[in-house]
Amino acid sequence: MPVFLPVYERLLHQLGPSRWWPAESPFEVIVGAILTQNTSWKNVEKALTSLRAATELQAEQILRLSQEDLAQLIRSSGYFNQKAARLQGFLRWFERFDFSVDTLRASASSEELRRQLLEQKGIGPETADSILCYALNLPFFVVDAYSFRLAERLQLGIPLKYEPFRLAVESEFRRRFTEADLTAHLNEFHALIVRHGNTLCRKRDPQCAECVLGRAKPAKGLTSGLRFRSCRYDTRSV
Ligand code: SF4
Repeated sequence: MPVFLPVYERLLHQLGPSRWWPAESPFEVIVGAILTQNTSWKNVEKALTSLRAATELQAEQILRLSQEDLAQLIRSSGYFNQKAARLQGFLRWFERFDFSVDTLRASASSEELRRQLLEQKGIGPETADSILCYALNLPFFVVDAYSFRLAERLQLGIPLKYEPFRLAVESEFRRRFTEADLTAHLNEFHALIVRHGNTLCRKRDPQCAECVLGRAKPAKGLTSGLRFRSCRYDTRSV
């Protein structure tokens, strides 16, 4: 029985398409994915603006900067010394592929690319899957704190651990969608969860009256009914 698809369908119906990732190029997605660790996207945007002004977001130019200068340019993203080292470390590896996302993607299978990304210092599963899905256009689902919060509140019965969660979403979506469409739907589902978590299902003060995932009846036109129990945190029930 589908667990995630009814959530996906209802969120898409309520919030509309996200068209993520907010970036002008796959390379910018990669840089953003590294800089966004432990900080808000607003801070990353400031760092990207400084970096763009200084380097035109060219990998070669970023690599030519001293680590100290790079750290100052990305200061607003927090942990800037660590992130400067990680970004340049990643770029030294990426240079083997001529700084080309297409060359990188063509170099190995999806799973092998994920394995190699996870070998890079400071690239954890969430960053690796963000790069794979949003820069390389490969079918990986990005799990994050918003995903865990939503699954826990909806009592989806999914382990709140990265790998089991990711694999559960991917296998359910794989059963529903063709390979050609899979990445787009995994991309959209993560984006919707983040948007929903930021605007409605907030950590404190969730806006349940506006949410389609609580006790509300399925909206007209939706094919899947609710497969999950009512949201345990639905503030309409207290
Ligand atoms: S009903 Fe409230 S707590 Fe439950 S998913 Fe919606 S916003 Fe979150």
